Amino acid sequence: MTSGSDSDGATAGGDGHGAVADGGDTPTTDGVDVVSCARCPRLVESRSRIVNGVGPDDADLVFVGEAPGANEDDQGEPFVGRSGSVLDDALREAGVARADVRITNCVRCRPPENRDPTREELGNCRGHLARELDRVDPALVVTLGKVPAEHLLDRSVPVTSEAGDVVDVRIGERSYRAVISVHPAATLYDGGQRETFFDTVARAADLAGVGDGDAGGQSSLDAF
Ligand code: URA
Repeated sequence: MTSGSDSDGATAGGDGHGAVADGGDTPTTDGVDVVSCARCPRLVESRSRIVNGVGPDDADLVFVGEAPGANEDDQGEPFVGRSGSVLDDALREAGVARADVRITNCVRCRPPENRDPTREELGNCRGHLARELDRVDPALVVTLGKVPAEHLLDRSVPVTSEAGDVVDVRIGERSYRAVISVHPAATLYDGGQRETFFDTVARAADLAGVGDGDAGGQSSLDAF
């Protein structure tokens, strides 16, 4: 694949959400990956690398988390720490191989001390996610936790009560069908969330037509 500067929706501020802070550095991309980006000076300092999404670039199901943590920053892959183990367990129980789904984040660089990404950082990275989703063209997106749900829905989202709900999210020039989920980390400090999370992943796999309870993929989504 050819790398180049991104003129296809990944300009600072993406599709108009969040702040614009392009300090003159134009990000470069390679396929669905971001190769270089210096839009967020604090994250450039705290990251050791840009953590791009993993999984097929034509996946039917895409999970979108918040931002890389220490393990992800270290290994260069989203959801490889304890949250990742929970996600892997839920996928396995739904009859889906991790390698068959795409896993990415709203923000590609690790925030310092694992703080939440700021609105400005989410806005700066939004175009990268828009570009990735546009190229992957999934049947279904799953938002993992409050930050991605609120970023993509642009409203307050009580994720525990809305978990499993099917909604439309708009990013870039397109809309996608999405399922709201609690973050897998929530299951680690509140065991009661485990069933909610596992049920949501199974439902999403079913709706996208990739799970062992496959209800027909696109046709099952048509009901929503
Ligand atoms: N939490 C996230 O939201 N993303 C990761 O990649 C890891 C943990």
